[in-house]
Amino acid sequence: MQYVSTRGGMPPAGFSEILLGGLAPDGGLVVPQSYPRIDAATLAGWRELDYPSLAFEILSRYVGDIDPQALRDIVDRTYTPEVFGSPEITPVQRLEPGLFLLRLSNGPTLAFKDLAMQLLGNLFEYQLGREGRELNILGATSGDTGSAAEYAMRGKRGVRVFMLSPDGRMSAFQRAQMYSLTDENIFNIAIDGVFDDCQDLVKAVSADLEFKRRYSIGTVNSINWARVAAQVVYYFKAWLAVAEGERPVSFCVPSGNFGNVLAGHIARMMGLPIARLVVATNENDVLDEFFRTGRYRVRSAAETYSTSSPSMDISKASNFERFVFDLVGRDPQKLLELWGRLDAEGGFDIGGTEAFSAVAGFGFASGRSTHADRMRTIRDLHERHGVLVDTHTADGLFVAQSHREEGVPMICLETALPAKFADAIREATGLEPEPPVGFAGLKERVQRYTRMPRDVKALKRYIAARCGPSSR
Ligand SMILES: *Cc1c(COP(=O)(O)O)cnc(C)c1O
Repeated sequence: MQYVSTRGGMPPAGFSEILLGGLAPDGGLVVPQSYPRIDAATLAGWRELDYPSLAFEILSRYVGDIDPQALRDIVDRTYTPEVFGSPEITPVQRLEPGLFLLRLSNGPTLAFKDLAMQLLGNLFEYQLGREGRELNILGATSGDTGSAAEYAMRGKRGVRVFMLSPDGRMSAFQRAQMYSLTDENIFNIAIDGVFDDCQDLVKAVSADLEFKRRYSIGTVNSINWARVAAQVVYYFKAWLAVAEGERPVSFCVPSGNFGNVLAGHIARMMGLPIARLVVATNENDVLDEFFRTGRYRVRSAAETYSTSSPSMDISKASNFERFVFDLVGRDPQKLLELWGRLDAEGGFDIGGTEAFSAVAGFGFASGRSTHADRMRTIRDLHERHGVLVDTHTADGLFVAQSHREEGVPMICLETALPAKFADAIREATGLEPEPPVGFAGLKERVQRYTRMPRDVKALKRYIAARCGPSSR
């Protein structure tokens, strides 16, 4: 499998060449040259596979240049009951006839991002060892990415993590989880701004190719291709657990940077029978607006609301470019034209065009949820089924209700556990969500982080002072 850029300016490269990188050199996103097709017979043969075996089958189709035995070993070490809480890794829970919850949040940081990030930690360690070099990971987080990255990379040799987070905009649990890490290779930086300011700083540093090379800067943001690939696996796992025969299912995905639901799109492109992919947003509805109207309008920081599902508080979706690349028939010229407009005018409108009609062909639908909607959903679900979900998962469950179809199972993706967002759960139900064993006392631990203004120069100085220039 070879990889190219959505903007057409990168010579084809192998998986291990793109694994440690962020944006493609031309500023685009790295995508596989084509999607491997899984035919019905192959899919049927996967019914009995356990999670690591299924992950190996899928990932080996995207990883051409890592020894299969080494990949198998990495996958086996990653997806264990010890790390993910059960042998199924991503168990499916039936809520009522035709409605399912895909449980993705039993990893070390209690959010679905662990499923990709734990794999990435092991892949990075393997690849860096192979190349004999170090990597300094620079990332931006609104909460869950950062902690998942830090828990995947902590103590790993040859890796440092510099993680930017929006000061004061994460939940107390998220803050405690990240800022209480004392590993020497973990640096938490609280930025005076919103998540997108953090993301812009990461982009600005990464755009300085000399600095990037000199300090061996890498990323683990949701644009990392290996993360997307890892997420494809649980769509297959869920379909295999729920679908009867070869019948399709639908998925509803609480969305922010469009990484999770993009993996669903890719699973569908590979041949997985998916009827609908429902994109659920909160009040930050840039994606819902696009899927309803064809208008993609990036929001300003002032228009980006702080909500009770904060991991979805985004103003633009960093993975969206990969999807639009498919929408425009994988034509880099057409993609460049749209992104030119995005840069110049802050958005584009493809409503009524051929490209937009492809949206429905790809099975996409969308909806939006508000604070009141998610509160009511959390309360209802608890009253009717005795199940407590977090605010992001509740956004998905709420939106899913308007997209259910007779005879098509709807699988809602659980993206975090309620204990991460205790204030909102208390407000919805009056209950105190219990963190799983091992998390008690987290909030009392000493927290360690550095405050910083929105200043690229200051950030570069901070990084340079903490890592010598790369030996290569
Ligand atoms: C990251 C995250 C999301 C959004 O996922 P994307 O891949 O960015 O669309 C939703 N819910 C939770 C809890 C998250 O951590």
